[in-house]
Amino acid sequence: MDSRRNFLQAMGASFLALSIPKTGFGSIDDFYNKPYDGPVLRVAIMGLGGYGTRVAEAMRDCKMAKLVGLISGTPSKITAWQSKYDIPAGNCYNYENFDSIKDNPSIDAVYVITPNSLHHGQVIRLAKAGKHVICEKPMALNAKQGQEMIDACKKANVKLLVGYRMHFEPKTLEIVRMRKAGEMGNVMFFQGLSGFKIGDPTQWRLNKELAGGGSLMDIGIYAINGARYMVGEEPIWVTAQETKTNPEKFKEGVDETIQFQLGFPSGAVASCLSSYNISYLDRFFLSAEKGFADLQPSTGYGPIKGRTNKGELTQAHITHQTVQMEKMAAIILAGEAAPIPVDGEEGLKDLKIIDAIYLAVKSGKKISLKL
Ligand code: NAD
Repeated sequence: MDSRRNFLQAMGASFLALSIPKTGFGSIDDFYNKPYDGPVLRVAIMGLGGYGTRVAEAMRDCKMAKLVGLISGTPSKITAWQSKYDIPAGNCYNYENFDSIKDNPSIDAVYVITPNSLHHGQVIRLAKAGKHVICEKPMALNAKQGQEMIDACKKANVKLLVGYRMHFEPKTLEIVRMRKAGEMGNVMFFQGLSGFKIGDPTQWRLNKELAGGGSLMDIGIYAINGARYMVGEEPIWVTAQETKTNPEKFKEGVDETIQFQLGFPSGAVASCLSSYNISYLDRFFLSAEKGFADLQPSTGYGPIKGRTNKGELTQAHITHQTVQMEKMAAIILAGEAAPIPVDGEEGLKDLKIIDAIYLAVKSGKKISLKL
């Protein structure tokens, strides 16, 4: 079975429910074999860097989402991407003139894939331009900014989604299904380890102005977000400790390593580690009364690997960004619900936890959370 077929099968019933009535296809084989002529989300990418490139390539396999526009400060990148993806000149913008995208009816949504500190202002400008927005994680630098982005999108009547690609990943979803179905019993403990050894000290990820922090904003957010969807509750308190071994590289306001603990209403607890200076940290472990789940790698680009008390997880790997964009198109175009929410409110919850973790590090105190 080829990857496209795998992909369509993994999309599941909700995708077919959306697509088949509109296309008149009767089965997944029909759907796979016939051209799709249903609605398509026309997307512009803002920020043609490393991750923007990955998303653009993954979107080549989408049926319901298509790359049609570009926003970049580098004219040579625009030219190269235009010929690679067949993008008309009228759909290309820079960071100064992109507000005029409001007059362009051939772009429905913009995917913001720029350094973290730019998300807030760019998303608000795009909302004012009347475009739906998909924004990369972390959605913003803090909860206040996140709320302002949600408000701006609500006011403009456009959707705001956050690029949480793991919320569509089949092995992750199987664990969530098992937990929700009660197959594991009560969840008692989650461990989330998220980190890598970061290289070039001059990159924006180590610049407080552009990154808004350090490892926690970039990679620790996976453990934060994962704790919430694995445990299936919202945390009510957090404690946290920071370790810094290289203050030259990890300057004031740029965290190198943070350990944090979360407490949940049921009494379940999470113990997590976020680091820019420890290799091979990509593991989720969930312990429940009647079962467990163990994912390693848990949030990398895949294939995700793991097992539960029932055995190895065998769901097919599909390119995360392809299924994410296909599902986000269905959310925006047809109001489909995400298996795990990906809206602005979801992003805001993680920002509230990030704010609390930084406060806990600074104060040494246990911080209460109200999500
Ligand atoms: P990158 O450095 O590879 O690309 C960033 C792009 O933004 C570049 O093209 C750069 O030219 C552009 N840019 C615009 N204004 C800039 C400015 N003032 N300073 C610096 N660059 C500027 O970074 P990336 O890895 O693509 O990350 C971009 C965003 O995507 C971040 O928010 C990051 O957290 C997120 N991301 C998400 C995932 C994921 O799996 N969801 C993976 C990687 C990155």
